[in-house]
Order: sequence, then structure tokens, then C-alpha cells
Amino acid sequence: MQAGAYNPQQQLPNLTQQINSLSINGQPQQGPGQVKQPPPGPPQLFPQQGLQSNVQQPPQFQPAPGPGYRPPQQPQPVPGGFPPQIQSQHPFPPQSAGQPPQANGYAPQPQQQSYPPQQPQPQAGPPHLGPPGPGGYGVQSPPQPGGYMGPPNAGYPPQPQQPIQGQPQGANYFTGPPVAGPPGPGAPAPGQYGMPLAPGQYPRPPGPGGYQPNLPHAPSGPGVPQYPGMPGAGAAAGTKRLDPDQMPSAIGVMQEDQQSRGGVFQTNQRGLLPPLVTTKFLVEDHGNASPRFVRSTMYSIPAQPDMLKQTAVPFAIVVNPLDNPARDEQPISCVDLGPMGPVRCIRCKAYMSPLMQFIDGGRRFQCLLCKATTEVPPEYFQHLDHQGQRVDKWERPELCKGTYEFVATMEYCRNNALPKEPAFIFVLDVSYNNVKSGLVNLLCSHMKSLLENLPSHTPVGFITYNSKVHFYNIDSSLAQPQMVIVPDVADMFMPLLKGFLVPRAEAINAIDNLMNQIPAMFHDTKETDAVLGPAVQAGMEALKASERVGKLLLFHSTLPSSDLAPGKLKNREGDRRLLGTDKEKTVLTPQNTYYNNLGQECVGAGVAVELYLFNNAYIDVATIGQVARLTGGAVNKYQYFQADIDGPRIIGDLAYHLSRPVGFDAVMRVRTSTGVRPTDFHGHFLMQNTTDVELGAIDAGKAIAVEIKHDDKLTEDEGVFIQIALLYTTIFGQRRLRLHNLALNTCGQMADLYRNCELDTIINFLAKQAVSKSIDSTPQAIKEGVIARCAQMLATYRKQCANPSMPGQLILPECLKLLPLYVNCVLKNDAVAGTQELTPDDRSWMMYNLMTMGVGQTVHYFYPKLIPVSGPTAQLDNPLPIRCSRDKLSEDSAYILETGIYLFLWIGASVNPDWLQNIFGVSNLAQLNVEPITELPDVNSDESLRLRGFIRTLRTERQRHMRLTVVRQRDKMELVMNRFLVEDRTSDGHPSYVDFLCHMHKEIRGLLNQ
Ligand SMILES: [Zn+2]
Repeated sequence: MQAGAYNPQQQLPNLTQQINSLSINGQPQQGPGQVKQPPPGPPQLFPQQGLQSNVQQPPQFQPAPGPGYRPPQQPQPVPGGFPPQIQSQHPFPPQSAGQPPQANGYAPQPQQQSYPPQQPQPQAGPPHLGPPGPGGYGVQSPPQPGGYMGPPNAGYPPQPQQPIQGQPQGANYFTGPPVAGPPGPGAPAPGQYGMPLAPGQYPRPPGPGGYQPNLPHAPSGPGVPQYPGMPGAGAAAGTKRLDPDQMPSAIGVMQEDQQSRGGVFQTNQRGLLPPLVTTKFLVEDHGNASPRFVRSTMYSIPAQPDMLKQTAVPFAIVVNPLDNPARDEQPISCVDLGPMGPVRCIRCKAYMSPLMQFIDGGRRFQCLLCKATTEVPPEYFQHLDHQGQRVDKWERPELCKGTYEFVATMEYCRNNALPKEPAFIFVLDVSYNNVKSGLVNLLCSHMKSLLENLPSHTPVGFITYNSKVHFYNIDSSLAQPQMVIVPDVADMFMPLLKGFLVPRAEAINAIDNLMNQIPAMFHDTKETDAVLGPAVQAGMEALKASERVGKLLLFHSTLPSSDLAPGKLKNREGDRRLLGTDKEKTVLTPQNTYYNNLGQECVGAGVAVELYLFNNAYIDVATIGQVARLTGGAVNKYQYFQADIDGPRIIGDLAYHLSRPVGFDAVMRVRTSTGVRPTDFHGHFLMQNTTDVELGAIDAGKAIAVEIKHDDKLTEDEGVFIQIALLYTTIFGQRRLRLHNLALNTCGQMADLYRNCELDTIINFLAKQAVSKSIDSTPQAIKEGVIARCAQMLATYRKQCANPSMPGQLILPECLKLLPLYVNCVLKNDAVAGTQELTPDDRSWMMYNLMTMGVGQTVHYFYPKLIPVSGPTAQLDNPLPIRCSRDKLSEDSAYILETGIYLFLWIGASVNPDWLQNIFGVSNLAQLNVEPITELPDVNSDESLRLRGFIRTLRTERQRHMRLTVVRQRDKMELVMNRFLVEDRTSDGHPSYVDFLCHMHKEIRGLLNQ
């Protein structure tokens, strides 16, 4: 079946969101009680100063406009509890040899290096993770626009087979170039697929649980399908149609991995390839960090830089430093060494870990990262046993675990003072848009329940703004909350020294009161201006004044365009036509440096900014999003917001956000063993030097990708060691260090690299790199670069590692057999390739989203989950996804399609009327008005309960209240959903999986013939 035609006139956001046409009355209204305040003079409180107060006894509070929202759901830990199973054994003989990753023109950061390691120097100033260790690294330069994220992954079933010397583990994956002709003679050799099949064996559907990689191979020439747009494409390609079911299947790979690697994963071996990120498994930490915290693109690193370069496989890690262990896994231990503080290597300042080897009867230890020897502090001394291990090794997490925490001492704290509890400040735009859409009312009516997601002692504060900025005194001793206005937004200062930040439990009544008053005060506002920059500054000044770090949650609706406030922006939406062209960077980069500078200032004060945008028009996400990007925050967008329709979404998202573990005022540092070093970083943070990743805050849902490069050849058999240290303040105000240690193998055989690749992580990294490049390259160059790199990965394998075979065969390494599929998904993804069908704001938003995604998120962002939810095959308690193609949708069924951002329910035209009745309470599909539906109706049936429960589970797993879009077969919304059926060709010219695989084959053959 052909993917439906996509109408470029229809924008995704316009279709997925109800457009609310607002007639905006632009008459500014003189706000009551505005008083010119002298700059940093003493604050003037209205009542005391005899000024007119804005805070009056509010009219009776109106209940929230949002009809019947449920209380936000508490996110729950990822369902864990898998039956422990025997983990499959993977022989990973240590090997050596290697080459540095190909510098395919990625990495937008300047590299500075100073190697070899320097002696530590006394640290002055703010807490860092320690004096610069060995090596300086290339870094994302601070005020750069756009930091972004990565792709989904697929699976690589580790090949159980013992590798033949010099051969890739029996995983020559073959998908012969698509040919419909009769297969040639011969059968696949064991461990190597892709040999021509015996007649009669072809075609063969994928076997259950795994793809049968047998395809007839075609001699090159007429039978080989061509990539659309390639010379010769067309007739030849069209006549012989490849069976997509013969292509490697992401679903098959995932299911196979679940079967072979589900259960317990013990991290007791160096360089052990973890199960796929999609596999449900339990981790036992035996000295290496769990793959939930850090994944590497490869677990066997070539000792020779040239070898790595030749393969073009990137060497990178993707870190979720603050993620939690799954339920049923051991919690992370916290070690308190008292006033002594964490024990560290004298030279590179690495922290005590299983990577330190004790010598000299336990009096000294040698660091595996830099090889320096350090004296053991007397209070930390312990005797060694007959094997040279400290006798207390198994009692100390820092000696036997991959991940653990230290309580940090004063010297790790800002201004050498123990931190106070971090605060949350809600900064609410109360201009016309937000009032009219119902947002102000909605937030205020849910504030009390939202705040219950925070610890009772966490200080909270409230600011509102339009063309002025208003602070609120919520001191519980006051009869009423008081408002203080700062009208001179060009010179922001904090007018309230007391009563602004109050522990949320203590202020509960005052907050209630205030939340009743705010909607009443602004319900008839005519103000259309909202000063974004000064509002951020106000929150930052408030935190500074109280000597706390914290987070600003900003709810903003319009392009900052006031002449009177700093940060004025011009409307660039007219440049939308530039998207997808060589000039697109002009709309994807910030139009001025104001928001970058503001972001830097916030990080300096330990402040993170989370942006929640409720725009009805262009708002310049590329520019204002910088303040979130640089502080470690996120950009959340709710265009055309209407409280009665989108209310549950924002309230759900906020509840997830507030209940997620978060680290404040953080610095992350990656140390590696000699011979390699981190060079480029991708994510949301600020880097002002080459080593320290600074974050106003980082939460459990955010990841940082780090590229690592050789700067020397490595020693064979020795391994590569990585230590990631995150210094942060907990929500309770405790300063801590979280350590993740990972030991990788080194190898001398290229085949070992290919056998130990992590495709999902490779895709995550390549996509982030592609997005980072979109600010200084062209879409065409980026696309060609990605394709060329992937072709090189596969061609080098074919040339150097695979068994000899017919030149017309496509042979894929087992771990990378989904590489063509996933690369095609990346290249058609809106974050990487969004063109004029998107608005510049949506494109920028997608780019920001991608940059903080972990590997678990990018998998389904690039290859969406498509799950049957009606009929006998629906198993909602143990859902079985199917291939993401229109051909897999059956007219008599219904399906959920989910990407982590979007959630569709597709209903076939001949769906069972009973199902319809049970889910929607109607018996005829034509009777169903799907447009206003964003939540399933509350129908009292088992099927309805199960499906609603399933959607809730998906949202909880994603920590995002994805809006539900219901699509009937042949509705126009199908055109939108079709874009997410990523195996199909899109109407705007992106190739199908089959087309792209053929194109890759051609590219590979081109390289092999050189
Ligand atoms: Zn060291």
C-alpha cells in the first residue's frame, strides 16, 4: 500500500492541535498600582508604603475551567520485575589495535588539548570537579545556539557464535540487493547469512522472534533497485519489487534480544556489551556502571587510531547521569567519608573507584586512568588480602561498584558554604494570551496539587509578568499575600527580601489564597506585552538574594517585542521558506546574544530555566530557547493552547517534571584513561572551558552525549577506562558527587569492534551530531555526510571482516544490520531534516528535544512504536509492536503509534463495532467526532479500562503527557500520521526503507570498487 500523499500545506502542529483563532485587542491597559521603583533601593511594599496595592480581596474563586481533569498522575518507576534469567555469555577476549574515529567533519567545537596530564593545581573559586585532569577537550563553546539530541536505536543481537579468527562474529548479515528473480543456488553458510538461497526458500517471512536474514542476492545491474533520484532509478526499480519483510527488522531484533538477553545483566566484565535499551532486564552492579546511566557506541576499542578511523564508527558515550535504577534494582549507595571527603588521585583527580589498584601493603594506590600513585590517607588505610585486594573491598561501594555517590565536603560547595535547599520559582506570563487561553486559571487552580510533588521543605516563590514584573510575598504571617511591582524592567532587581521564598508546606494557605487572586486580578487584562528577559532576570535575582540555587518554571506566550525591555526580538517567520535550504541556519540560530548571555548568567548563579511556551504565533524558539539550553533546562511547547482541550497535557507534564529526581547547580566531568580523551559534548549545558560541563540543573530524564577520540595508540589488552563525575546539590540541599565508572576493552582485530557495537547509541550520537551541525553546515552536506559515513562503516566491514562473497551481495555486520533502516529514519526526522512543512519554531523545538534525549528515548523517537490495540492480537499487558509500515495496518483493527512526543490512535474503517462501542460508546465509526478527542472517554467496559491504562503506562514511561490524536482510516489526519510510518516512502520524497537499503548498497559497492 502506498503511503498517503502528504500535503505540504498542512503543518503538523496545525493539524495535531486545535487552532484557536483569537482576536487580540492590543490596547494596553494601565495596570493598577504601578509604581516606579528606584533601582536597588529598599523595597517598597505596597500596603506599608501606602501605595495602592494590586492585591485585593479577590472575587470568589472560580474553579478551574478545565472540565474534570484528573489529578495528575504520579509517575511511576519503569515497570521492572523481570524474572531473573541466566544471562547469555559473551566471550570478549581482550584484544588490541585500533584507530581513531573518523573526523567526518562533525563536532562543532574547538578542540584544545594539553596532553599529557598536568599536575593538579590548587583549586580556587567555585566548585569544580577538580582541577583539570589529563587532557583538555574540545568543547561546545558557550554561547552557541542550539544544543540538540539523538536518534533511536535498533538492536544488534549479540551473536552467540564464537568468532572465527579474524572474522566478525558469525554475523554477516546479508540482505541481498533486492531482486525478485529466482534465487541462485547455495545456502547460507552457518554464521554467515546472505548467501544465495536454494530455490524454494525464497521468499521467506521473518521467523518469530528474529529476522531470517536470507535473501537471494542479485547480480548488480538491472535488477538492483535504485534510490529515488539516482540516475537510472525508476523503471528498473519499479518492476522488481523487494519484499520489505525480507529486510532486517527492528521488531525482530528487539524481540530476539529480549529473548536472549532479558533477565539479569551483571556488570562484572570489562567491555561487556549490554542488552538492547528496548530489552527489559535487571542490572546487578558488579563494578561497571549500569547501561541505564551510560552506554557506549562500542565496547571494544581499537588500539590503533587508524583502525577506528578506517571503520568510521564513532566512539562516543551517552550519559544519563542522574537516572534512577529500575524498580527491583539496588538503589545507589551513598558514601560519607566525613571531613576527609572523597579520596582522589593526586594527579588526574579521579575519584576512588574499582579502577584504583592498591599496592605497597595498602599504603598507596595506583590510578588506572593516569597511572599516578597516590598515598592512602591514614584514615582510609586498610590491609590487603592475599590477592592484593583491600579486605574491606566488598563493604565499600566505591571499591566494588560501578556507580555510587559521595557526600561532598565544604570545598565542593559554592562559596565554600553548605548549600541551602534549592527553590522552585513559578514565573507566569499574565498577558492577554495566557489569560484568554485559560492557562492562568488552569495553573492557579492546580498549583496546590502540583506542589505536592515537591518535598514539604522545598522553598517556592511566585512571579507574574506582563509589561511589568510582579513579585508576591507569601509570608504565612501576613493576612493576605502582597504584590510588589517592578515597573522598570530594564533595571531588574529583587524588591522583596523576606517572604518571597517560603517552604511550600508552610505557605500552603498563602499560596492557596494567592492562586485564587491571580486569575481575578488579570482576568480582564488587555496587556499583550510580556517581558521575557526581565522575567527570567527577576527569578534569578530572587534566588541570588536568598543565596539559593534553583529552578525557574516559565510559562510564556508571545514574542518579546517591547521597545522598553531588553531582549526585544523581531519576527523572522517570513524566513520559514529557508528551512531545508542552505540558508536555514539563519532561522535556526539566535538572532541576538541577549538570551545566551542571560543563560550564562543564570548558570553562574546556579539557576536552571524550564520554558513552557503557549504561543499562537511565531515566538522565536531558536533564540529564546537558548536560556533553557544553556542552563540545562528544556523547551516545552503547547502551541494554540486551550485549557479545556490541552489542560490535562500541561498539568500532566508539570507533575512529571516536578516529581522527577533533579540535581541543582551541577558540574559534570568526564575523565578517561591515557590515550583517549573526550572531545565534543552534545546536550543542554554550558561549557566555558574544555572540561567542565556546567548545569543550572539536570534531571533524571536528560542525557549528555560525549565523543571520545584517540590521541595516541592504546596498549593492547589494557582496556579503556572512563569515569564520569557529577557534582550536584540534591533537592534536600545536600552536596553530592555521583560517580559512574565504565571499563571497555581494547582490541587489535577490527572484527572485535564490529562485534561489540551498540547501534542504538551510535544512532543517538550521529543524530545529535547532525543537529549540532545544522547551525554551521547545510542540510544537503549533513545528509550526504551521514550517508557516506554509514556506507564507510559497512564497506569497511565487508572489505576487512566478512567472508569472501559475491560482489553483488550486501553483507551487514550483525550489530549494525539495522544501520540503514535507522539512518533513513534519522534522515527523514523533523529535527534533522524538517523543511518548510514545519515552522522554524517547530524545527527548533524538535532540535532542542532531541539534544537531551537518552538512548531509550531516541529509539522510538526515530522508530516509533506501532501496537495493535483491538482484536485478538492485542496484548495490552505485554504489547507486541509491529513494523512501522502502512502495509501492516489492517482495516479491521485499531493501533497505537507512539514516538515519545506524539501519540496516535488509528482506527481501521472496518473495525469491529463492538470494540468501537466499548471504547467510544458509539457503534458506527462515522458517528465518531474525533477532532476534539484528546483523551479516551470514560466508558465503563473492560476494553476501555485496559486501553486507557495502556495509554497511561505509555505516558508514564515517557514522563510526558503525550496528547492523544485519534485518526480514522482515510481521514486527512492520516497524512500526518503517515510521516511516522518510517519504513514507507513519504510523499515529500524521503525514501522507503527498501529504497534506502538499495541506495546504501550502491554506495557501499561504490566504495568497494574504488
Ligand atoms: Zn589519576
